[in-house]
Amino acid sequence: MKRLTHWIDGKAHESVSTKTAPVYNPATGAVSAEVPFATAQDLDAALHSARSAADSWGQSSLSHRTEVLFAFRHLLHERRDDLASIITAEHGKVHADALGEISRGLENVEYACGLGTHLQGAFSSQVSTGVDVYSLRQPVGVVAGITPFNFPVMVPLWMMANAIACGNAFILKPSEKDPSAALFIAELLREANLPAGVFTVLQGDADTVGRLLEDPLVDAVSFVGSTPIARSIYERGTKAGKRVQALGGAKNHMLVLPDADLRIAADAAVSAAYGSAGERCMAVSVVVAVGGVADRLVPEIASRMDALAIGPGTDPKNEMGPLITGEHRDRVAGYVAGAAEQGATVIVDGRDQIFDGDEANGFFLGVSLIDDVKPGMSCYEDEIFGPVLSVIRVDTYEEAVTLINANTYGNGVAIFTRDGGAARRFTNEVRCGMVGVNVPIPVPVASFSFGGWKDSLFGDAHMYGPEGVSFYTRGKVVTTRWPDPATSEVDLGFPKTR
Ligand code: NAD
Repeated sequence: MKRLTHWIDGKAHESVSTKTAPVYNPATGAVSAEVPFATAQDLDAALHSARSAADSWGQSSLSHRTEVLFAFRHLLHERRDDLASIITAEHGKVHADALGEISRGLENVEYACGLGTHLQGAFSSQVSTGVDVYSLRQPVGVVAGITPFNFPVMVPLWMMANAIACGNAFILKPSEKDPSAALFIAELLREANLPAGVFTVLQGDADTVGRLLEDPLVDAVSFVGSTPIARSIYERGTKAGKRVQALGGAKNHMLVLPDADLRIAADAAVSAAYGSAGERCMAVSVVVAVGGVADRLVPEIASRMDALAIGPGTDPKNEMGPLITGEHRDRVAGYVAGAAEQGATVIVDGRDQIFDGDEANGFFLGVSLIDDVKPGMSCYEDEIFGPVLSVIRVDTYEEAVTLINANTYGNGVAIFTRDGGAARRFTNEVRCGMVGVNVPIPVPVASFSFGGWKDSLFGDAHMYGPEGVSFYTRGKVVTTRWPDPATSEVDLGFPKTR
């Protein structure tokens, strides 16, 4: 059995831990490795290495940091196929989708390469006689990043590219379900000449996270995962005096107005609901169909579902792979059963699809479409995180917006229409962090920041882009005076600007 490692002080670190978890290949159900959870000694070694690396890395020149990031960007691009294969082997998503995840992550490295501009301060000359003021941003120190299983490369890159560019040491605690990609990234960073200790991988579970949240050597925590854990991370981390951003789960609505191009809307709904088996925090999980448009839209969506090729992510003909675990697959299937019991209409039932041969033991589930869903049904209230699309029928635009705004989540949302005025009104009224107009998955490019509202984000800072740079740095304002020594005098008054 292959046993994975941590990455501490610039090299693979074997753990003597007896607490381990199996890593599965979701396409076959076979265990491919075991991951050891960090012991107290592993944590001590990681934290001390990161702390001392943060001091020197934070003082390194911007040109040195840029050089390392450029080299890393080049290696990541060059080895993207190998990395995508690692993602597919442990997560299950199809190879093309794994490549897509890497390219969205690469954007963040490219953005971070502009650190010379992002870290620029302001300068005001002669604010008082002989007095100048300037501002600068300095690294926070040691940053811990705790990431979910569904984007084992992109989400770590959302965090670490900016954290490292800003001069911090970064400790990644990847999901225990697909931990190998983090180690591959660590190897690339070593090849890019990142100094030892600036990037650390600690494998572990809730206990490992608990120590990172409490240890005084950690200055800031970035978290992405489910809402209950995000809320608890935010509360525990801030109580321990740390800066915390914690991104949670989602229930993303797609509002379709009667004037929308239904072919485009149906294509978008199918791609956004079933891509990556619905295991995306920006997946569309609810279509809100206004004014009878569902009568035409639901058949359009259903007609596209038969053709979807579901199977192992290693086969280029497949468009959707398995779910992450057998337990999760069964939980998702349970929502389809529950919807029927609660009075919704199951138009396409993914449980009917048979997977045999090598796939029989994989964690596969077909795609489901549920019509006549109502608030209060569990398939609407909960984040399912699987290939299940619900349709809610409403009479008016106002009813739709009220429904969306009443939802506890506020990550992404989209409107499909040909009416620019309606779209503009919607973008203004909707209570969500990321809005798409005829774009089903509006993940911002790296020069903007990513984050939801309501129970989809705890903390003030969105992730990556300008807000990421601000989160990973502290501001400082310096007031300087270079007076003529001949005019110096004692003045007990409060400093004045005139
Ligand atoms: P999860 O919350 O179960 O786990 C996320 C991370 O937290 C993992 O590293 C895990 O080991 C750790 N963890 C688990 N239990 C913990 C505990 N009790 N205390 C401390 N740490 C703990 O999430 P997941 O199942 O890996 O990922 C799916 C979830 O992530 C979905 O809810 C999805 O919406 C969300 N997600 C959100 C975004 C976003 O940007 N808002 C992006 C991707 C995924």
